[in-house]
Amino acid sequence: MELEKVCENLKARGFKAQIFPDGKAAADYLNGAIDGTSVGFGGSVTLDEIGLCDALSAHNETHWHWKGGAGERGAAMTTEVYVSSVNGLSEDGELINIDGRGNRVAATLYGHKRVYFVVGQNKIAPTYEEALWRARNIAAPKNAQRLGMKTPCAVRADRCYDCKSPERICRGLVVLWRPMLDAETEVLLVRENLGL
Ligand code: SF4
Repeated sequence: MELEKVCENLKARGFKAQIFPDGKAAADYLNGAIDGTSVGFGGSVTLDEIGLCDALSAHNETHWHWKGGAGERGAAMTTEVYVSSVNGLSEDGELINIDGRGNRVAATLYGHKRVYFVVGQNKIAPTYEEALWRARNIAAPKNAQRLGMKTPCAVRADRCYDCKSPERICRGLVVLWRPMLDAETEVLLVRENLGL
């Protein structure tokens, strides 16, 4: 798939969007764009891989529960800027995220002046249905396995079993068709595989 076309489609929906050759370039861009402010992070293997929190912490107030513990989830809800990834992105520009606690998806909907999504090319699927399938059957099982959950998908991380497990991590689905009103929202498309 052509990232250029995905980028155009995102812009047509009102998102800011640009393409980066790799995760380092995306992190360098954000390290320049986010300065002297407060930043919250959603749980994200992508953000961990590109080392964004460490870079931004040198010149911003940062809140990420992956670094500072569970209390940081609440603090991250009230920052000026929020950064996340997605579980799936359709070529037409629909951003898909599944969440267990809800802090990550809620923060992408409300409460921040700027929201950034860092999206590796592996997250992109041709249609909305296929992007949703990816979120449910690739990203979620891998996340359940990473978290050591007692769910049927975590054993092999092969597909979703639509489980009734008490430890089910898939509890809410958010699709951004367009940027939310009053939130400047930018999608960084990265020409390498990032995250789960
Ligand atoms: S619904 Fe259950 S089986 Fe399906 S991906 Fe989520 S945790 Fe795994």
